Amino acid sequence: MVTRADIGVIGGSGFYSLLDDAEEVELTTPYGPPSDVVTVGRIGSRSVAFIPRHGRDHRFPPHRIPYRANLWALRSLGVRQVLAPSAVGSLKAEYGPGTLVVPDQLVDRTSGRPQTYYDADGAVHVSFADPYCPSGRAVAVQTARSAGWETVDGGTLVVIEGPRFSTRAESQWFSANGWSIVGMTGFPEAILARELALCYTSVSLVTDHDAGVEAGEGVTHDEVLRFFAQNVQRMRTLIAQAVEALPEERTCPCPNALDGIKLPFELP
Ligand SMILES: [Zn+2]
Repeated sequence: MVTRADIGVIGGSGFYSLLDDAEEVELTTPYGPPSDVVTVGRIGSRSVAFIPRHGRDHRFPPHRIPYRANLWALRSLGVRQVLAPSAVGSLKAEYGPGTLVVPDQLVDRTSGRPQTYYDADGAVHVSFADPYCPSGRAVAVQTARSAGWETVDGGTLVVIEGPRFSTRAESQWFSANGWSIVGMTGFPEAILARELALCYTSVSLVTDHDAGVEAGEGVTHDEVLRFFAQNVQRMRTLIAQAVEALPEERTCPCPNALDGIKLPFELP
């Protein structure tokens, strides 16, 4: 394969393109095709591969996204660092729409999604105590602050199964636990990245308050998409700036995620 990239971006709801004038690469993986053709191009001096998480026409709901194929495809192109923008609901009254959260923890409330590459030929247990790349997080936070975003460094992302939104009771429960934001796609994406020894950073844009956080009707998908569409250009700029600011050499723990573990197959 000739086309290569160092950095991967997985775009969320409303975020269907990143690179103009880029090469389109049709890929397949042992886990089927990724969500869409992968576009590979340059941002400054960095080579970047972009996948729209839901497909360009938003055909994959959160529980049907081919997460394993997406991460595998990125790794097979040479990608080692992944930025993952997404739309989230806020579980804290003080994080209003437009707030950017770079979480440092995750709670998995999904069910039934394939969440490992290693489901045959021996057990592979990777550490997931700290699910996100510390270098990627630092870059995302610093870049967002310099660009004037209301930015939260850290916090817990709850990933629900969807496609429905939370009930008021669920939302109040998440909130009472001190968790910060709620989304539907951050898992298993984060663990699959870790299983491939990739750096993974969630860049979460608050589009609304979740059901229990304030009175009212609760969130609708239309509201989420409308808000994200209004912010997508700003988000693209931020992601492009973060791509350029990511370190050339990885000094974080992520590359060593699989050290000492006997893998049942070779990674791409
Ligand atoms: Zn890392």
